[in-house]
Amino acid sequence: MAHDVALRSGLTYDGPAIEEALREMIEETGGWPGRIVPGARVLLKVNMLAAKAPERGITTHPAVVAAMAVLLKERGCRVGVGDSPGGAVGGVERYWRNCGYEPLAADHGVELVSFERAGSLSLESGGRVYNIARPVLEWDAVINMCKFKTHMYCRLTNAVKNAFGAVPGLGKAVLHSRAVRPADLAVHIANIYALVPFDMVVMDAVLAMDRRGPGTDGRVRLDGVLGVARNGVALDMVMSELVGIGPLGLETTRAALARGCGLPGGAPSVSGSASFPGFEVPLTWMYNLVPGFAGALARWALRRVPRSNSRCTGCGFCARSCPAEAITLRGGRAVMDRRKCIVCLCCHELCPENAIDVPNPLKRR
Ligand code: SF4
Ligand code: SF4
Repeated sequence: MAHDVALRSGLTYDGPAIEEALREMIEETGGWPGRIVPGARVLLKVNMLAAKAPERGITTHPAVVAAMAVLLKERGCRVGVGDSPGGAVGGVERYWRNCGYEPLAADHGVELVSFERAGSLSLESGGRVYNIARPVLEWDAVINMCKFKTHMYCRLTNAVKNAFGAVPGLGKAVLHSRAVRPADLAVHIANIYALVPFDMVVMDAVLAMDRRGPGTDGRVRLDGVLGVARNGVALDMVMSELVGIGPLGLETTRAALARGCGLPGGAPSVSGSASFPGFEVPLTWMYNLVPGFAGALARWALRRVPRSNSRCTGCGFCARSCPAEAITLRGGRAVMDRRKCIVCLCCHELCPENAIDVPNPLKRR
């Protein structure tokens, strides 16, 4: 009998072991989905949030992506890898290089796909219109290769949240800046998730992150876990339960269930097991206290405008990359103009010194 979710634990990023685990988990969840047939073009939608090394625990590890590529090649598929990080407006090559995806092209014949260059289509979901990168809509099949880590606003980044990267370029920043409360952002994410035709999900929690991720306040942990499922909401529910917040502990899960993206019936069936001892998930309920009618004023007051810290060397990289021209160098240090900033967080993601913090506005007050 096929299970809804398959889990493995005790793993490292050893390629053959990951391949073997994935092979078994795909079988346990019902085998290859119907669209993943010989000759199909299969897109691996990774989490490439920041141009950081894989050992930082922020992005989907290239060893997991490579293992999936090996299995797909064995099946006779063509394989692509893509995502749209916020900072990719300045060029995605730096992300491919730093995240360790560049060798996938030479070693496994994988195509590195730029969502920005491929263009997008405008689609309606939940009464709103979203720009969705063409590759996730036009390739024959899409696999959600998500990373498991904490998020200061959504609590966890997982399968449903990974759909957000299907919105290319600065569109994500605009949605972020308009959504004052996690509940508002979760509705956008669920609407986008409902538009992306994911065929299956592979979750990388071998190196995971807890506490106040996904930046420097997060704690990288070797949990050794992989998850596979056909339905991402089911996998998110299982992972939420494992880290102690209950299956419905995420706004994104509840919003996706409300959009009809979950499984019919009760709790997902699971093969295998995993545990995350001492995993700390950030609290975000206080953001939801902001009344919706506070609208523009609250959005303005609660925008999480980044600021440089004492590690800033004044290199000016962030100022040259800021799409809103909101950064100047003063006294050898980057200074962000709150009035101009559109909170795209590109500067936070690309600073080579980890010298940009994203303050919690409620804490500051
Ligand atoms: S990129 Fe980082 S180190 Fe360079 S000026 Fe900006 S904040 Fe400072
Ligand atoms: S200062 Fe604001 S607009 Fe400029 S890169 Fe940073 S977050 Fe984006």
